[in-house]
Amino acid sequence: MTTNTKPRITIVGYGSQGRAHALNLRDSGFDVTIGLRPGGPTELKAKADGFTVKTPADAVKGAELVAVLTPDMVQPQLYRDVIEANIPQGATLLFAHGFNVHYGQITPRADLDVVLVAPKGPGALVRREYEIGRGVPAIYAVHQDCSGKAEQTALTYCAGIGGARQNAIRTTFKEETETDLFGEQAVLCGGATKLVQAGWETLVEAGYQPEVAYYECLHELKLIVDLFYEGGITRMHEFISETAQYGALTRGTYIVDEHTKAQMKKVLAEIQDGTFAKQWIAEYAAGNANYKALKQGDLDHPIETTGKKLRAAMPWLQQPATKPAATAAKQREEATA
Ligand code: NAD
Ligand code: MG
Repeated sequence: MTTNTKPRITIVGYGSQGRAHALNLRDSGFDVTIGLRPGGPTELKAKADGFTVKTPADAVKGAELVAVLTPDMVQPQLYRDVIEANIPQGATLLFAHGFNVHYGQITPRADLDVVLVAPKGPGALVRREYEIGRGVPAIYAVHQDCSGKAEQTALTYCAGIGGARQNAIRTTFKEETETDLFGEQAVLCGGATKLVQAGWETLVEAGYQPEVAYYECLHELKLIVDLFYEGGITRMHEFISETAQYGALTRGTYIVDEHTKAQMKKVLAEIQDGTFAKQWIAEYAAGNANYKALKQGDLDHPIETTGKKLRAAMPWLQQPATKPAATAAKQREEATA
C-alpha cells in the first residue's frame, strides 16, 4: 500500500455487506470500484448505484485494497483463480469474516497485508446507521502485516464504513471466526429460532390460538430485544412487570439449564476443533442437499403461515430492515441456477 491515507478500494461482491461497505466508503470520500462477474445477479444494482463495475480480475488489478465480500464458500476458488494472480504487490486483502483464513482455505500471498473488518450487524443496518450518522460496532484484526501499516489500514476502512464511530475493538482472525460462528449458531440464529418455534408449538399443542401464540412467542420478542439493545437486561427489568420478573427469574432456568449450557459448549467445541467448518465445506461442495432440506423445514413450519396472515394486517412491518439478506439469498439461487 502507498502512504495515501485513502487507499483505492475494490470490493468484490455486492450483496448484504458489499453494497453497504461500498456506499459508506464512497460517502466517506474513498475511490471505490466493484468487482463482479459479468451478467451476475448484482451487477445491475451496483451500476444503478453509480459504481464503476469491472470483472473481478480487472477490478482487483487497480486496487490498493481488495475487500472480499462474496459468500464465504466461494472465496477460496475466487482467491485462487482471480485474486492471487491480479492483486498488486503490497496491496491489502480485507475480509469481513475470518473463516477462510482461519480454517486454512485461503493462504494469502506473502507480500500482502491481510486484515479483517467485521461489522457486528447485517449490511442493511451498516448502511442505515451510517446514513443517520451513527454506526454498527465493528471488530478488526491483522493476520499479516508486511507494510507495518496493516492496523492503520484496517482502522481507516473501519472509519470509512462508519464502524469506528462505535468503538472498534481489536480482535484476531481466530477469535472473530469462532465467536461469530458461536453467536449465530447458539444464540442469535439457531438458538433464538428453536426457542421461538418450541414456545409456539407448546402453546398451540395445548389448544391455544396460533395467532395469540405468535404474538407471545415471536412478535413480542422484538420489544424485549430492543430493551436489551438499549440498556441490557437491567433495562428489561425496569420495563416489565413484577410478575413478569418473578416468573422470568424463577422459570428461565427451566429452559436454559446446565444441559443447555453443556450443549453450547459442544457447539463451541465443534467450531474450535474444525468439525463444523469441515462439515459445512463438505455440504457446500456436495450441492447443499441437507442444508436446503433443513431450511425448507424452517420455511414450512406452521408458525410461518400464522405469521404471514397476521403481518398482512400490520402493514407498518412491511419495510423490513434486513431485506438485502433475503434478496441476496434469492440472487444466489438465481446465480447458481
Ligand atoms: P451475500 O451473499 O449477501 O453477497 C454475495 C455477493 O457476492 C453478491 O453480489 C454475489 O453476486 C457475489 N458473488 C457470488 N459469487 C461470486 C463470485 N464467484 N465472484 C464474484 N462475485 C460473486 O454475502 P454477504 O452475506 O454480504 O457476505 C459477505 C461476507 O461478509 C462473508 O464473508 C460473510 O461472512 C461476511 N459477513 C456477512 C454479514 C451479513 O450480515 N450478511 C455480517 C458480517 C460479515
Ligand atoms: Mg457470521
